[in-house]
Amino acid sequence: MIIAVDGPTASGKGTISRALAAHYGLRWLDTGLLYRAVGRQVELNGGNADDPADALAACVFPDSLLDDPVLRDEATGGLASRVSIHPQVRAALNQRQVDFANQPGGAVLDGRDIGTVIAPNADAKLFVTASAEVRATRRYGEMRGRGIMANYESILADIKARDKRDSERTDAPLKAAEDAVLLDNGNLTIGAAVQAAIAAVEARLQRS
Ligand code: C5P
Repeated sequence: MIIAVDGPTASGKGTISRALAAHYGLRWLDTGLLYRAVGRQVELNGGNADDPADALAACVFPDSLLDDPVLRDEATGGLASRVSIHPQVRAALNQRQVDFANQPGGAVLDGRDIGTVIAPNADAKLFVTASAEVRATRRYGEMRGRGIMANYESILADIKARDKRDSERTDAPLKAAEDAVLLDNGNLTIGAAVQAAIAAVEARLQRS
């Protein structure tokens, strides 16, 4: 079984995906981490994230980079959003994600284009969202929890800029697949959002 979970940044899709993977005993891939690794590698290479050749060169990164906590930083998220615009980068990361999705037994993947590009035949597709303000509040709390100085207004501006870049790019823009279930978790606790996600997957499985 393949479960595709897409949605904008800080929407809670990671938490929901991890919980779905645990619930169904599936492996989980946070595909944003791959784009974050490319963004970070561009920086390490001294390259420019907006330059397609520099971004493509950065698609070669050591797997150990995926465990680097710096990938979780807002700044790395911004670099990831910039490199992910380039079709060459998306193509370079495509096979790894497709192979993960199609592993025996299935998988849960979360990202921006899982239901539309990586796994269009997924058994269940969710599009997880919440308002930019709710997402900024969560990100702010998360950063403060990690002891990082944070400014709500700049986080909100960053989230809006990232949403715009991710939604307006021509290659694999952020958008819900036509057959995705929309899950707005702005007013839900984590537990309730996870229950709603499991219910949505169950409903899909019953239909097919
Ligand atoms: O999900 P996360 O915020 O970690 O993703 C970082 C960036 O990577 C996103 O803003 C987006 O530009 C890019 N991304 C993407 N396609 C994916 C996953 C992430 O373009 N499947």
